[in-house]
Amino acid sequence: MAQKIDGKEVSLFIKDKIKNETEKLKNKTGSVPGLAVILVGNDSASHVYVRNKKLACEYCGFYSESYELPESTSQQQLLKLIDTLNKNNNIDGILVQMPLPAHIDADTVINAILPEKDVDAFNPSNVGRIMLGEYSFLPCTPAGVMELLKYYNIDVSGKECVVIGRSNIVGKPMAMLLLHENATVTVCHSRTRELADVTRRADILVCAVGHPMFVTADMVKDGAVVIDVGINRKPDGKLCGDVDFESVEKKASFITPVPGGVGPMTISMLMQNTLTSYKLKVKRSQNNGI
Ligand code: NAD
Repeated sequence: MAQKIDGKEVSLFIKDKIKNETEKLKNKTGSVPGLAVILVGNDSASHVYVRNKKLACEYCGFYSESYELPESTSQQQLLKLIDTLNKNNNIDGILVQMPLPAHIDADTVINAILPEKDVDAFNPSNVGRIMLGEYSFLPCTPAGVMELLKYYNIDVSGKECVVIGRSNIVGKPMAMLLLHENATVTVCHSRTRELADVTRRADILVCAVGHPMFVTADMVKDGAVVIDVGINRKPDGKLCGDVDFESVEKKASFITPVPGGVGPMTISMLMQNTLTSYKLKVKRSQNNGI
């Protein structure tokens, strides 16, 4: 029977470290990290995410601003707000909650955020840095997965890692972070043939597909570590991941539940990136003699 990986516990551990460091920095500098979160429209899940981000800011002792804008907000109005926040020295991170309404081009919006305030690490310059392994900001969800593996002393080096999903926000950066830790990485996607043959090779299997019960026990090697990134809603309204938890936990050595696995880590890593951004700002102003 697999050991359950407790994302809530690890997330709290990280937030406590961030909170302590923030307190120490506040005593030294008189200021704290600041995060601005922008939500456009009425997506109910997005409202929950934004509220959780605000609560995490409060917990860590950060300054936060949240903007809940109507669905009718124009791209121009959104870009103007981002420009104001780019210039605001109290704001170290700007996060625009996705998805945006169809009349707003997400790439244009992401590109408008200054790379040094892009705490989601979606801006092409930050994506490029992730490829090179020279990053300040880690993409939050994949970075959260790496922290879970580290906390449970699961060594990645030399392991066969299979990632199912090749999205820009999860699958691709996940593969990069595993590669930087010396894993042998295979990325699977909707056109992969004989998927189960590939996933059965995995010592560590990361699933980011977005289909409930997608990974079944016959796709998993005995003793594999199974990380479920998926967040899906069942017909009864309850959350579930991409993995058939009940059958797979009998075969795996470690497994993340949904909810309570990867999900809570994403917000902690956002806090981590905001703290990093703040520290880089302080360093830049010290170097400039301000
Ligand atoms: P996406 O839709 O952009 O990507 C899904 C990927 O799955 C694609 O690359 C596609 O090729 C692959 N795929 C689809 N069908 C497949 C098949 N039959 N076989 C193999 N691969 C297949 O989704 P995403 O943004 O990467 O998110 C994936 C899941 O992770 C979603 O459930 C999302 O809600 C969840 N998610 C969770 C967090 C978190 O904080 N835990 C963060 C981001 C996304």
